[in-house]
Amino acid sequence: MTHSDNMREGSRQTDLASGAAWMRGKIMPIGEASIPVNDWGLIHSDITYDVVPVWEGGFFRLRLYLGRFFRSMKTLHLDPGVSEDDVKAILHELVAATGLRRAYVAMVTSRGVNTVPGSRDPRDCRNHFFAWCVPYIHVIRPDIAKSGAVVHVAKTVSRIPEASVDPRVKNYHWGDFTKGLFEAKEAGAETVMLLDGDGNVTEGPGFNVFAVKNNRLVTPDAGVLEGISRQTVLEIGAEMGLETDVRVLPLEELLESDEVLITTSGGGVAPVTKVDDRVFSNGVPGEVTMSIQKRYFDWAMRPEHRTEITYDP
Ligand SMILES: *Cc1c(COP(=O)(O)O)cnc(C)c1O
Repeated sequence: MTHSDNMREGSRQTDLASGAAWMRGKIMPIGEASIPVNDWGLIHSDITYDVVPVWEGGFFRLRLYLGRFFRSMKTLHLDPGVSEDDVKAILHELVAATGLRRAYVAMVTSRGVNTVPGSRDPRDCRNHFFAWCVPYIHVIRPDIAKSGAVVHVAKTVSRIPEASVDPRVKNYHWGDFTKGLFEAKEAGAETVMLLDGDGNVTEGPGFNVFAVKNNRLVTPDAGVLEGISRQTVLEIGAEMGLETDVRVLPLEELLESDEVLITTSGGGVAPVTKVDDRVFSNGVPGEVTMSIQKRYFDWAMRPEHRTEITYDP
């Protein structure tokens, strides 16, 4: 299904089918949703979010995404006064209103606006939950997910240390990724992967990284957002009888692996055919990667992983 099919399906409510938001109890076209200019989410990146995919009319592994979102809020001392069930109901209502069968659904909690004039105390802010949804976003373009991505290893920037910004909390501190993306585009690559201060692989802008060698999957244990797609691929790997290792992954080891793949809720599993000058499996997607990719989409259709959306008749 293409983007325009997605739009047609939702054409009953054309204004919402290209994107909608839930704010302060109301659903509105996404272009009408806004936050105040002095919201701490904007002026201090004091905000957390999560993104759950909707695939063929159902949320994929919704419970896991909600669990991560609520852990992130707890870590940041954010409490906008909504329960997991509230958020679940809001997301359901929001997606149903757009009519979208394939969607990128974001839930966000911002520190909000300070209610005491002049206060610099984060406890004086009114925390604010909102959500928005647009037609499915591919973090890696579909043609690239088929043919393989060229990934650049950032040279002028490393991943923000986890002692400074906890990468397990999904966040908007994207200065390192954005700098890396400019570097990657200049080098003619599709996207970028960042190393930590010791030269170990961490992650890229919105995706986790795996190395495949001798039927073993290796993915970094630290300095990364613990992706739900990453978890899914670890579970799929186990189901396929592959060994799985979550540990330090030095760049040299990644470059000596048989295959490299990346995982994201915006596209699932994508093969990487080139990292800097190193070409993997003769420049075509690796066999293990493509087998995992296929299984990922099988998993997305399994009833036990889905929360079906009830659309208005
Ligand atoms: C969202 C994200 C990922 C991927 O996580 P998924 O849950 O698989 O979508 C990886 N790294 C970063 C920095 C992210 O923001």
